[in-house]
Amino acid sequence: MSKRVFDVVVVGAGPSGLACAIEAKKYELSCVVLEKGGITNSILHFPTQIIFFTTPELLEIGNIPLVSEREKPSRNEALKYYRKVAGMYKLDVHQYEEVLRIERVEAHRFRINTTASVYEAHNVVLSIGHYDNPNWKLIRSTIVTWL
Ligand SMILES: Cc1cc2nc3c(=O)[nH]c(=O)nc-3n(C[C@H](O)[C@H](O)[C@H](O)COP(=O)(O)OP(=O)(O)OC[C@H]3O[C@@H](n4cnc5c(N)ncnc54)[C@H](O)[C@@H]3O)c2cc1C
Repeated sequence: MSKRVFDVVVVGAGPSGLACAIEAKKYELSCVVLEKGGITNSILHFPTQIIFFTTPELLEIGNIPLVSEREKPSRNEALKYYRKVAGMYKLDVHQYEEVLRIERVEAHRFRINTTASVYEAHNVVLSIGHYDNPNWKLIRSTIVTWL
């Protein structure tokens, strides 16, 4: 049996990855989102009491309003919101599946190796964020400076 080739594989289910998957859905493209943690994993790891510095309308995706009790949403409101949006759009998110390697098989065909499986896709979106990827060189030099 031939392997299914997705139109799009999105790596990372942060707000950007979810927004990309929503756009793919709107264009009726087959799409799977691969996330090494839970949905919006970065926000999941924010300090629990944190309030965003951004107003809700700038955090919204997929034309779904983010209703917040105060002027700026809390971590918990954002977590609930992005999960609700992923559910409303029926996004195919594979949580707790880390992407380890991406190979280019041929023009417009990629092989994506994860901790659980292997996927093929015509397009890959890397929406792996920034906060998850500490600059160890800088951190180490800072620690040495402090010592
Ligand atoms: C304390 C704090 C407060 C912040 N407040 C604000 C704010 O008020 N307003 C604002 O706009 N921004 C704020 N930010 C920044 C905010 O985190 C980003 O704007 C937002 O999360 C970026 O979304 P993203 O989808 O680009 O990246 P992320 O949310 O970082 O998503 C990337 C995703 O990719 C996943 N991933 C990474 N590597 C892999 C892999 N190999 N395989 C599978 N999955 C992978 C990660 O687990 C993560 O879920 C704040 C950040 C911090 C730390």
